[in-house]
Amino acid sequence: MAVIMLDVDEFRQINELYDREFGNWVLKTLGQFIQAILPDNACLFRLEKDKMGILMTNVQEADVKEFYKSLQEHLRKIRECVKQGHQGFFLNYQPQIQPQTGEMKGVEVLVRWKNQRGNMVSPGEFIPIMEEHGLIYSAGLWILRTAFQEAKEWIKKKPDFTISVNVSALQFFEETFLEGLYQTIEEENFPCENLVIELTESFAIKNIEILQKKFNDMRKRKIRIALDDFGSGYCSLASLKNTPVDIVKLDRTFVKDILNNKFDAAFINLVTEICHIVSIDVCLEGVEEKEEYEFVKKIPLDSIQGYYFGKPMDKEAIDKKL
Ligand code: C2E
Ligand code: CA
Ligand code: CA
Repeated sequence: MAVIMLDVDEFRQINELYDREFGNWVLKTLGQFIQAILPDNACLFRLEKDKMGILMTNVQEADVKEFYKSLQEHLRKIRECVKQGHQGFFLNYQPQIQPQTGEMKGVEVLVRWKNQRGNMVSPGEFIPIMEEHGLIYSAGLWILRTAFQEAKEWIKKKPDFTISVNVSALQFFEETFLEGLYQTIEEENFPCENLVIELTESFAIKNIEILQKKFNDMRKRKIRIALDDFGSGYCSLASLKNTPVDIVKLDRTFVKDILNNKFDAAFINLVTEICHIVSIDVCLEGVEEKEEYEFVKKIPLDSIQGYYFGKPMDKEAIDKKL
């Protein structure tokens, strides 16, 4: 006789990302799936929560091992499908505007996910979970490839149109990140000059030495790097001295109070001035109101992004705008 105990890794997160009803559906489907490949001399039981047990009778050790292997193999495949298909994922694009003319210079690529129940899950929620599960790397490549494909027409129409793609810390750290990036660029025949990679400030500052090498390599190919959420962390100004970036993206918290708070306006002005001295472009995020736009227009910013000019939108909406 043999007993096999099974439990689902990180099942709790299925409940968190979807809901309990969906969690139950997953368990049921999993149960049916195992049932379907169960040999005649075995029975499946639900023990508790996400734990199941298989009882095998009149069985040799080698048969148990073989069955267990085939079970794992089958389950690994259900995961591969998710990985490869990236079902439910799609991209939105938010316009980046030339402050004086209001012309669209480029877009930031923002990933979206609609789960199987049709609910939208925000990237703030699912990206950390994908990072934790090692799925961010393949998802990141999918995002790059899809953005390259969708942006090609825009670049044909407007040769200096840029796309800014967010890259998560773990993704950037992956040893094969550059290899994957360059390969995707080559396969999609995408012009490097039209690509900006956005990295968050807090992450970049903590890992300057490791980053320097990758930064230099990317810049050799004319891929630009933006420091995202600038000012939301610590030691921001000093960090600019050592971080080899091309663009600084000022965090949207500075716009929130800009009409009432002298500090915020002064900070934006100061950062812009310092950046321009060392040839770094400045993008201001989070401009929502006309009054805010009128106000920041006086600052020599290189680009502005915010709901006032457009919320993140699908490819077709950008087609129309262009
Ligand atoms: P982020 O890179 O700072 O992206 C800007 C976020 O601010 C977006 O939220 C955007 O919708 C929002 N936003 C833009 N303009 C305004 C405005 O005027 N007012 C307000 N209140 N919000 C504005 P979203 O799309 O929910 O993205 C959240 C974060 O998720 C992003 O912050 C980024 O860190 C991460 N993320 C999004 N897409 C990707 C991706 O493809 N890869 C990775 N690694 N991270 C991503
Ligand atoms: Ca960003
Ligand atoms: Ca940002």
